[in-house]
Amino acid sequence: MIEYPLVIGGSPVRTAHSATLRIPFDDSPVAEIFQAGPDEVNAAIVAAQRAAPIMRAMTRDQRSTILRQAAARLLERKEEFARAVSSESGKPLREARLEVDRGANTLLFSSEEAHRLVGEVVPMDASPAGAGRWGMTIRQPLGVIAAITPFNFPLNLSLHKIGPAIAAGNTVVHKPASATPLSALLLADLFASCGLPPGALNVIPGPGGAIGDLLVEHPGVAMITFTGSADVGLRIRARAGLKRVTLELGNNSALIIDDEARLEEAVARAVPGSFAHSGQVCISVQRILVARSVREEFVDRFLAATGALHIGHPLDDATEVSSLITEKEAARVESWIGEAVRAGARLATGGARRHATVTPAVLTDVPPQTSVWAKEAFGPVAGINSYQSLDEAIAAVNASDYGLQAGIFTANIEKAFRAAEQVHVGGFLINDVPQFRVDQMPYGGVKLSGTGREGPRYAIEEMTEPKLITWRG
Ligand code: NAP
Repeated sequence: MIEYPLVIGGSPVRTAHSATLRIPFDDSPVAEIFQAGPDEVNAAIVAAQRAAPIMRAMTRDQRSTILRQAAARLLERKEEFARAVSSESGKPLREARLEVDRGANTLLFSSEEAHRLVGEVVPMDASPAGAGRWGMTIRQPLGVIAAITPFNFPLNLSLHKIGPAIAAGNTVVHKPASATPLSALLLADLFASCGLPPGALNVIPGPGGAIGDLLVEHPGVAMITFTGSADVGLRIRARAGLKRVTLELGNNSALIIDDEARLEEAVARAVPGSFAHSGQVCISVQRILVARSVREEFVDRFLAATGALHIGHPLDDATEVSSLITEKEAARVESWIGEAVRAGARLATGGARRHATVTPAVLTDVPPQTSVWAKEAFGPVAGINSYQSLDEAIAAVNASDYGLQAGIFTANIEKAFRAAEQVHVGGFLINDVPQFRVDQMPYGGVKLSGTGREGPRYAIEEMTEPKLITWRG
């Protein structure tokens, strides 16, 4: 089995501890991954600090070129990366290939934004005291950025942090999720082959519960960019002091199906929107609110399309739904379905568990206080409830601790924009599922879904400091 060392200061580092990486679907071993402890966290931060002046001194074009080359090399190595993502996360290979394509896009957008990194002219003489003065801002890199990433999009969500950080002239210490360190380690190799200076990207897999606090609290780190659960995000926020913090957290995404929706189109989008990667997408469709008059037809169509999904091994090309990340997570989802049924929901299909795999489950008439409705399910479960008026549906969408994205299907533009205006989320999608994302758009949430926005242009804003310079002529 191949052993993967950490990457610190451009060099491979083997430690006293390693963990076996396994395909969650069947537990077959994939690789042996060395694990970072406190010494390696410190060493990675020191390496990143040493590389910081080098990155800061590079021209925008030099940084842009590295990112452009990285995009091209990633596509050259597409199958290798897709198989790594699929094996470590249990994501169907066809989705992993899409993730690689998106990762290349994220790099290209970051490359373009490196060229566009600008400040602004400040109208100093708009104040009487500013007469005769010129003012401008420049955007400077922050220094060392700690990037902490989740298991569900191990490649593209890492690139949403690494790409903008490099574009802005920062250096990175990346701690990938323990379940999915492989693509992160391959990325370090890919960037090195594109001329990224040693130490600009350090990758330290290791248990977040043991090394996370050290990374977050370390005085050498200027910013933490975190994607993951709300629990860990809140802990990071509490420990980060005055460091810059971006938090991309969870959601229990809601979708409204209006009585003027095109149901065939809505179902064609909502079923993959609910069950892609076994619902382990932060914006998976989880709560569906259907206008009462079209409920029956929608549910029938939704169940038919759900039943047609092909469940299997992630590396099988035909597979559309595979396992969850662990058997423990699958058992949690199973128990949440049981809780909902005991509270009065109807399990219309699915919900059967074998090891880490749960068949796509559809619940109707779900009591709103149950876990599958009120919390983030992060599994293959969609709940369908009906409503009488649009105001009622909007209130139900907003009755959530989360606010990442939501959506509506309707042919009525007045209702679409009323919902868009009144739903409290970071992004609202008309005639699409909240699970939709392209990588250049501003992406992030309100409430427990986090703070800050990603998408290279927006992430770069968070990863740079505006400095004011004035000149008295
Ligand atoms: P998680 O358990 O919160 O883990 C995320 C990362 O945090 C992992 O690298 C983890 O390391 C690390 N970590 C754990 N404890 C830590 C600590 N005390 N200090 C610092 N880091 C620590 O989340 P997950 O299960 O991997 O991912 C699922 C969650 O991510 C869901 O809630 C989902 O909604 C959210 N998510 C959000 C977005 C978004 O853009 N808004 C996108 C994708 C996923 P270990 O793996 O070693 O524990």
